[in-house]
Amino acid sequence: MNLSGKDITYLHGVGPKRAEMLKREINVSSYEDMLYYFPYRYIDRSKIYAISELNETSSYVQVRGRILKTELIGAARKQRLVALFSDGVSSMELLWFKGIQYVTQAYKEGHEFVAFGKPSFFGGKVSMIHPEMETIAEVRSKLSLGGLQGLYNTSEKMKNGFLNSKAIQKIEMEIIQSIGADRIDETLPEYLTRDYHLMPLHDALVNIHFPKDLETLRVAQFRLKFEELYFIQLDMLRRSKIRSKRFKGMQFEHIGHYFNTFYKECLPFDLTGAQKRVLREIRTDVGSGRQMNRLLQGDVGSGKTLVALMTMLMALDNDYQACMMAPTEILATQHYESLSALLSPLGVSIELLTGSTKKKDRDRILPLLADGEIQILIGTHALIEEGVVFKNLGMAVIDEQHRFGVAQRAKLWAKNEQPPHVLVMTATPIPRTLAMTLYGDLDVSVIDQLPPGRKPIRTIHRYDTKRADLYEFMKEEIAKGRQVYIVYPMIQESEKSDYENLESGYEKLQNVFPEPAYHLGMVHGKMKASEKESVMQRFASGELNILVATTVIEVGVNVPNASVMMIESAERFGLSQLHQLRGRVGRGADQSYCILVTSVKLSNESRQRMDVMVRTCDGFEISEVDLKMRGPGDIEGTQQSGVALNLKITNLATDGQIVQFARDLARKTLEEDPELMQGKNLLLNQRIQRMMSEKLNWGVIS
Ligand code: ADP
Ligand code: MG
Repeated sequence: MNLSGKDITYLHGVGPKRAEMLKREINVSSYEDMLYYFPYRYIDRSKIYAISELNETSSYVQVRGRILKTELIGAARKQRLVALFSDGVSSMELLWFKGIQYVTQAYKEGHEFVAFGKPSFFGGKVSMIHPEMETIAEVRSKLSLGGLQGLYNTSEKMKNGFLNSKAIQKIEMEIIQSIGADRIDETLPEYLTRDYHLMPLHDALVNIHFPKDLETLRVAQFRLKFEELYFIQLDMLRRSKIRSKRFKGMQFEHIGHYFNTFYKECLPFDLTGAQKRVLREIRTDVGSGRQMNRLLQGDVGSGKTLVALMTMLMALDNDYQACMMAPTEILATQHYESLSALLSPLGVSIELLTGSTKKKDRDRILPLLADGEIQILIGTHALIEEGVVFKNLGMAVIDEQHRFGVAQRAKLWAKNEQPPHVLVMTATPIPRTLAMTLYGDLDVSVIDQLPPGRKPIRTIHRYDTKRADLYEFMKEEIAKGRQVYIVYPMIQESEKSDYENLESGYEKLQNVFPEPAYHLGMVHGKMKASEKESVMQRFASGELNILVATTVIEVGVNVPNASVMMIESAERFGLSQLHQLRGRVGRGADQSYCILVTSVKLSNESRQRMDVMVRTCDGFEISEVDLKMRGPGDIEGTQQSGVALNLKITNLATDGQIVQFARDLARKTLEEDPELMQGKNLLLNQRIQRMMSEKLNWGVIS
């Protein structure tokens, strides 16, 4: 039976109103969508707890008992309904803040129920807020035999419309019952399910919602995870094959004047071994006649900019233009300045284009760009606007690519009739499994070596009660001629209290470090680009001793003389953000310090994060820990890609082996049957066609 065309509206118990809510809130409109809306966890409902067994560590539990009395407490708007619920030995309170009218009617005094929820404890008293209630008759007719019950995510709006987890479960059951003796159409070829012992789709979908037992659930999960990953890999590998076939890449025949002169005469230092290796990899790509799509990973400070520059020179040597896109104006400006300086002996024509480029300059730059007079264009998102036309763009570099969306990168790709070579760079190291899934069609280069002479940054965790000592330490560093960053959290630009903290922090600092002995500056996201830039400039030139900032300085900024990074309320930052911030120091020859300041009261998780930071400076290790602690959806920058991938069941943090398995198998499939034209692969072909029509173009460059 094919379920993709079956409209959920007409399912028993749904109807137009609920159907609309399902569509709006969780994007479910067909039977198939609904069946692919999986539980996020399972609870064992075969066990009934006694109230006396509950304690602070109890998770979701069910308790059987009777409602002894109910009472409305509080005035109109803040009303709550409290029910005294007893299992015959002890009692607890059940609380409702919403839907009171319904609850009063449905759960009457004297009746027996099974209450299900997470117990909370206040002053030794047990209570349950908004428990799910079932009558004994309902419990007896329980759908799930093994006692494992799925819990489904529902939005606040859905809950208010009585579309809670239990209601979703009922809908799933309706669908399965409506299928009856039919079977859900298989999506994988018979030979795959047979050879690799995969559970048939029908059984997997039934068991994911109503597991027979734990073991069967695991087998069902494996099948569904495999399927999810296998099709992604198949799609990605196929695209990259087609692409390399369709677009004959520009062939950069030779390394010439620009590259060689720069290498011999302008390089301010020797390249590291890793930089050389990566340049060779890039050289091979661009000379091959295939279009390059390469991801360059390298920890903060590993020297990616120089690699980007020399890569762009390869394009210039072959009479092509090059561009480099950065996520912030500060960074784009800094790239522009440092690259202009490095390139000045070569007489390369290089320009900067950002959102705040004056109209006059823009009007001058654009025609020159279209004529090919400008050889290198550095900029922000402004580069991908429609009016920006190149004569013959041969190389596009994207810095800090995790800050860009897939669509933005695709636009850059389209800047030339024949797509340019693309180098995307990131300092947020992505664990292998994640990279394989998100960027499965990119070739990957890694700079795994820092330039020589760098001393590892010393990272220290201090409580905010010790600030005075820290200020003394900073004064000593400043006396040695060093500079200091002090970063405040600005999690959301709109958060008013964050600005107040920043402003008041800045005022206090001005007292601790008074003029004229000290010079302080401040940058944050609400300032005009030109103001930000002028403050940054004064810091970079050494005029300011201390830069007070928000995370606007997180990405890429390079001031080698800065040796102290103090991060206020460090517990509020994510791991990869902390690592990025720390990367702003340790860029010169001096010993650098990163000081993480937190309050004394810390959650376990925050403490762990501080410990990891103190223990290691290795970006890859940190990103692995991050992935484990937070799950891939939260890892900075992967969110967008994760959404695009729309993973419903795979957890990239823990399912690495399945990722690898699916990728190997997808590769094997395509080796045997590149176009998926063989009869046995008909199902695969159909699915890929469908994915292509659904996804339009997002994957062009990912
Ligand atoms: P990132 O990889 O974080 O973008 P950058 O490209 O900004 O790092 O480089 C960090 C610093 O290291 C810069 O000051 C740069 O000039 C310097 N650098 C880059 N390569 C080398 C090298 N091979 N030897 C010494 N210093 C280098
Ligand atoms: Mg950089």
